[in-house]
Amino acid sequence: MKAYCIGVDLGGTNLRIAAVTPEGERLEVINLATRLHDGPHAVLDDMAASIRQLIERQNGRLLGIGVGSPGPLELPAGILHHPPNLPGFDGLNLSTELERRVGRPVAVNSDANLAAYGEFLLGAGKSCHVDSLLALTLGTGVGCGIILDRKIWQGMQGAAGESGHGPIDPNGPPCPCGARGCLEMYASATAIVRRARELGLRSMEQGSDGAAAPLTSSSVARMASSGDPLALRIFDEVGRALGLSLANLVNALDLPLYVLCGGVVAAWPLFAPRMFATIREMSYVYRMSMPADPNVFEPGKTHICAAQVTDAGILGAALLPLAAGASASA
Ligand SMILES: [Zn+2]
Repeated sequence: MKAYCIGVDLGGTNLRIAAVTPEGERLEVINLATRLHDGPHAVLDDMAASIRQLIERQNGRLLGIGVGSPGPLELPAGILHHPPNLPGFDGLNLSTELERRVGRPVAVNSDANLAAYGEFLLGAGKSCHVDSLLALTLGTGVGCGIILDRKIWQGMQGAAGESGHGPIDPNGPPCPCGARGCLEMYASATAIVRRARELGLRSMEQGSDGAAAPLTSSSVARMASSGDPLALRIFDEVGRALGLSLANLVNALDLPLYVLCGGVVAAWPLFAPRMFATIREMSYVYRMSMPADPNVFEPGKTHICAAQVTDAGILGAALLPLAAGASASA
């Protein structure tokens, strides 16, 4: 009888549920829209129905169920606290609510922690043979997950790795977290589009109706790749912000590996030169352990690279229940 796990990736827009082998191979994925307007219990019901569907169709031995959720998520309890991307979910205990519906134990962790865990088990962490890494997820916002000695470091209350809200410029734009000039205000897909609008960039691409397509971080990246100076400036700013943030992280943690994940990473050639130049300039810890070529992993040196796994988050969620004591708290 084949063995498998189920991973759930709960996002503000999409809800995805996957059956995954213990080796990390995807067997089947169910993609749904997250029915936020119908409330958290409708979303939990959708999750439970898809889990039951997968159990029925896989007809094997289910080893565990893991869920990745946007934060703030109190860990290890699994309680959401005013999650900005999941309105109406405040105070919800994800694991007990889902366990009640499916009648099985459910492991819960934050989406960024699980992206880091997936990258650790199956991606850059595996290919570099390291026991610790930090992952920054550059998407709608900027998330961060830390793996220390093969365990997810969740901190005292589950808030470890809120580096997306580390300040880059105290005079920068206000952030929804209440601070100003956070990394998220420079290096997220949302920030790239906001900056493009501020600089007056217009998409040259047409939508299906013939009108100018709305700007996206990918369309700004295409403009930069074709030489648009303002679009190039935006990715230079992305690189500078990432470099400053990574300089702080490298100085604090001195880990062998830092992985950048998420949609913005496709623009790596546009932001990486400034990012590496900034880390070299601002972190003596990085200078002590700098590889000869920043793009080539060298054991004993600090390596900063793009993610190697697509969907690391859902794979990390699926494999989370397999590792007893996979997470550590302060
Ligand atoms: Zn912030």
